[in-house]
Parts: sequence; C-alpha cells; structure tokens
Amino acid sequence: GRKKGGGGAGLTERTVVQEDPGQVGTGGWDFYTISPDDATQHANGGRACLAKERWSMDVKGFVAAPYGPGVAAVVHSRRTFGSGAERYVYHFYEVSNDSPQTVMKFVGNQLTAKDPKHQENVNDPKFLRNFCRVQAKAQALAVNFNRRVQGKSAWQISFVECYIYTLTEWGVWEDGTGSVLVEPFLEGRFVKWNSNAGYVKPSQAPRQAGAGAARNDIGLFGIGEDEEEDDSDTDSLDSVAPFRMPEGNIEPDHAPQAFSHFTHSITDGKDLVCDLQGVWNETDGFMLTDPVIHHASGKGKNGRTDRGKEGIKKFFETHKCNPLCKRLGLNIFAESMRV
Ligand SMILES: [Zn+2]
Repeated sequence: GRKKGGGGAGLTERTVVQEDPGQVGTGGWDFYTISPDDATQHANGGRACLAKERWSMDVKGFVAAPYGPGVAAVVHSRRTFGSGAERYVYHFYEVSNDSPQTVMKFVGNQLTAKDPKHQENVNDPKFLRNFCRVQAKAQALAVNFNRRVQGKSAWQISFVECYIYTLTEWGVWEDGTGSVLVEPFLEGRFVKWNSNAGYVKPSQAPRQAGAGAARNDIGLFGIGEDEEEDDSDTDSLDSVAPFRMPEGNIEPDHAPQAFSHFTHSITDGKDLVCDLQGVWNETDGFMLTDPVIHHASGKGKNGRTDRGKEGIKKFFETHKCNPLCKRLGLNIFAESMRV
C-alpha cells in the first residue's frame, strides 16, 4: 500500500474487529431507527439516524437526501472489512425493519460506510464531510469529461455518490451525535490508476513503437486552449468541446490519466483530481471513489491529502500524454505554464 500524505502519523488508531473475508455483517449490526420515539431510542442504546445528506454542487452545501422506499432504519456492521490510510470501512444498509431483528430486510444496494480510523478525527464534523464534498466535485468534473470525450462507455469516468448519515448513540461521540460517510459497495477488482504523488499504474495495453506518448506531447501545442479559457471556472462545468480528435489507439486505461490531466486544464490550473481508484468494467467504465483534489492555493482546502502545487507538479512529472489527452486537445506544456 501507498501511504497518502498526512495519513496517520502520530494519531491513535481506534480498536476494531475485522470481519472474515467475504462475510457481510458477521458480528452483528448496529441498528439506527430513523426518527424513533424516545422509548424506542432508549431501548436501543440511544441509537437513531437523524439525517441523510449529500453535497450539492448547485447550492455548495449539504442538502437532505431521500432514503430508499420503505426505509425505517439503517444498519452498520460492527466489524470492519478493510481500512485505508484514514478510514475504516464497514458494511452498511438501509433496511425496512422498524426494530432490531435477526433478519435484516435490506432495501437498495449494498453500501459501504467509511468511519474515521483515528480517534482524533472521530469528533471532527468536517472530517468526513470533506471527503464527500471532494468526491462530488470530482464527479462534476467527470460528467464534463465524459461529455467532451464522447467516447465508449468503457472510457467513462464516474465517482460514486456519497452521503453523510448523522447518527446518535450513547457513548460514541462527544456531543452525542456523529456522522458516517456512506457510498455504494464497489464490486469487482479494486485498482489504483494513479496516486496523489505521481504514481501511474503501468498500462496493460500493448505499446506500439512510434505511436506513444512522446509525439502526443507536441504538435498540438495551443490547440484546445481557446475553448478551455471560456469555462475555466470550476463552477461552469457544462459546455461541450466544439471538435474532437480522432480516436487513435485509445485504451480504457488511458481514461483515468487523461481525466486527471483534464481536471487541471478545465479548472485553469486551480485543481487536479488524482488518486484515482475503484473498479472498472466494459459497460460502466470506471467507478471511482476516494479521490484527492490538489488545490493550487496550497491551503489544503481539500483535506490532508491535498498537497497543493507540489502535488500538481508531481503528477505532471510522471504523466505522459496519451491518445485520449490528444483527443481532448490537452498538452503537457500548457499545464506546466500554469503550475
Ligand atoms: Zn495528458
């Protein structure tokens, strides 16, 4: 595993129990009724689910999100099934049960809850919300990317929807309530296409001599810059490129690297989305989670993994423009002017 910037140096890891591989909910579920009456909540360790929210790009804030049909509670597995640098992952479902029962009636898809790994972050209300906001922002850029690429579904980039559930329970959070970040469980082989510090997954596509990256970096200098300047603002992510380049030898693996490059170009050098990881299949393309956005201000506004200009520089040090970058009219010299 690669360590992310800021990770957990000097922090106290919470004690957790790991689930056996492949099991879901072994060790039981914690049950949080949505808006219970006092007696019900008291009988259940004070547990309740108070809210479900998502980040809205339109209002630039968290807004209420609907539960699935017939949902009366949410359940959170007591055991973890994995961990990242900053978070433990648990199973999570919306259920139609109105009280804790042996058989849980799951509604909708299997979900994953991501909770702070370190004690120091448990009571920080911004900690998980920040991940959610960053992921929503990355998704808005992905929508724009897909529209401009107008390519095969295998090249599509998307970041899974993520939600903040506000829960309450006795003895867990300092002020009685806390939150969990919840998103769809990703099925398939988990892959990391690039990191937040210049790592690039080696492409599995066979390389053709003479058709590689070196030539893509030149010859297109200047093309593509004009139409990008008009919508360099992150907030207007809905325009369509007026032309597109030939497909050349575009492989699905080119999409994540081209997407990272694209995010820097379309935001006029303000942002770079990287640490692209998740699953891929031919029909859905890339379904990604937990991105990092380096923000050029260097103020770390996107959390501990936001390395600012240094992170952006690291990306372009190892990035080789691929045929998809070329199709989008991206070139690396334009970016180096902005860093
Ligand atoms: Zn590129």
